[in-house]
Amino acid sequence: MKMPKFIFVTGGVLSGIGKGVTTASIAKLLQFRGYNVDLVKIDPYLNVDPGTLNPVEHGEPFVTDELYEFCPAPSFTYRTAEVDQDFGTYERFVGRPIHPRNNITSGQIYLSVILQERLGKFLGSTVQIIPHITNEIKRRILEVADAQKLDVILIEVGGTAGDIEGAPFLEAIRQFRLEVPRQDTLLVHVTLVPYLPAVDEMKTKPTQHSVKELLSVGLQPDLIVARGKRQLTESARRKIALYSNIPKEAVISNPDLEEIYELPIRFYEQGLDAYILQRLEMVAGPPRAMEKWREIVQRFTKTKERIRIAMAGKYMRMGDTYISICEALRHAGAQEGAAVEIDMVDTEDIEQNPALLEGLKEYGGVLSTPGFGSRGTEGMIQTAWKCIEEDLPYLGICFGSQMLFTAFCRYSMGLKGANSTEIDPQTPHPVVDLLPEQRQITEKGATMRLGGHPIVVRPKTRLFEAYKKKNIRERFRHRYHLMPKYVEKATEKGLVLSATDKSGRIVNAIEVADKYWIVGVQCHPEFTSRPDAPNPLYLAFIRAALKRQQH
Ligand code: GLN
Repeated sequence: MKMPKFIFVTGGVLSGIGKGVTTASIAKLLQFRGYNVDLVKIDPYLNVDPGTLNPVEHGEPFVTDELYEFCPAPSFTYRTAEVDQDFGTYERFVGRPIHPRNNITSGQIYLSVILQERLGKFLGSTVQIIPHITNEIKRRILEVADAQKLDVILIEVGGTAGDIEGAPFLEAIRQFRLEVPRQDTLLVHVTLVPYLPAVDEMKTKPTQHSVKELLSVGLQPDLIVARGKRQLTESARRKIALYSNIPKEAVISNPDLEEIYELPIRFYEQGLDAYILQRLEMVAGPPRAMEKWREIVQRFTKTKERIRIAMAGKYMRMGDTYISICEALRHAGAQEGAAVEIDMVDTEDIEQNPALLEGLKEYGGVLSTPGFGSRGTEGMIQTAWKCIEEDLPYLGICFGSQMLFTAFCRYSMGLKGANSTEIDPQTPHPVVDLLPEQRQITEKGATMRLGGHPIVVRPKTRLFEAYKKKNIRERFRHRYHLMPKYVEKATEKGLVLSATDKSGRIVNAIEVADKYWIVGVQCHPEFTSRPDAPNPLYLAFIRAALKRQQH
């Protein structure tokens, strides 16, 4: 088998400086050159997957279409479709689904090695970080290479150089680079170059320090991508090159951009892909489809109008909690020539002050977010009902659809105290309840109904209007569902059952009839939205919101 080339991406100075977007942009440039690329993310935390992490602290878990089933020992299999939020960025840039095996965590690595130790696989030896953990890391990287025909794999290492947790990964990369020919691997280091207004200077010292940190573990970067507010000055570039032992053309500026999808173009202009190709001894023709991407970027930067969307939910403290939803709204807006302005509406505030509900009328539409647990849910239910009363375009995603259904049951059907059993286990009307197959499950890791599933859309519904197809596929992440017997009763009061799973057993979407545009879906269509191909449901929602705003 022909081995692909491996590009490792490490970070320095600070986390959260956009390493994911940088990695995705490099992948996009190589794709423009006609190469088949894939992306791997290494997360040094001990969770097996990010599904159990707090989304406010860590950002959303992204859900892949496929499931990864991994069986380190016959007695134990773990499966996952919940991956780091960077996979959202990757998929949006390269425009195709990525397999969950590509998210490697310390949790998975250690779990496998320890289970294998119990099986007796290493009998007689002391099991150690080097070589057992590092071997498992290398094995996992090669597993991605084995699974498909690839030209290049980009491997982003989470955290920053010098973190204790990341050390085994950097060591594995060091070994890996020694074991394959020099022209088969490349190391990109992404750092921060702060600008100090007082002295009107770009400061390269933090970059120098983080390069030193890498060198101390035996890693020489081949390329430095310098994040900063502004374009890198010539003198800063020269300095970084000198201290990092690399030529000046290998220092690439990554300034703040109005539009993140523009980054591949900015990199191209600085010759980043040409440098990589030369260094990896790859021969490629001129970039293809770049013009088309440029046009797509312009959709975002040259919008003609604005559309205001209220995002109602409870995890409101960090922008990344709902990053895929925000991006899906932006994709749909851009296609319609509109910049989407998203205001987070904390439904706990609505509970404190119901008068805030009136404020919703200022918006083109309301998106009710996914979520777990009872906090803020009364506010979500009141929000849904307000939208029904005011005929305000409403899109409920997963939990949002469950809250819409609860509101409908309470106020249209008169079922006092109706609720989801996730929120109120004693409710007299359990209109949302555990999926039957979830009842026996007590463990929390990757045990939800996860990943991509087929959906059957009923004709003459808003949903059908959006997708224009009977059979669609979207991704799911839930334990609870709308109880079919209540949905059936609700249809007598004007609720429309617009989609189910293939068996007809799981309600996948509901709508309110005769109303302008009120839709709730159990799935997460945001995960399949792309800048150049907005998800049809988000597009339909934005169109409805624009229509309302124009009247
Ligand atoms: N907590 C709900 C469930 O498990 C909704 C989950 C979600 O919004 N992703 O069904």
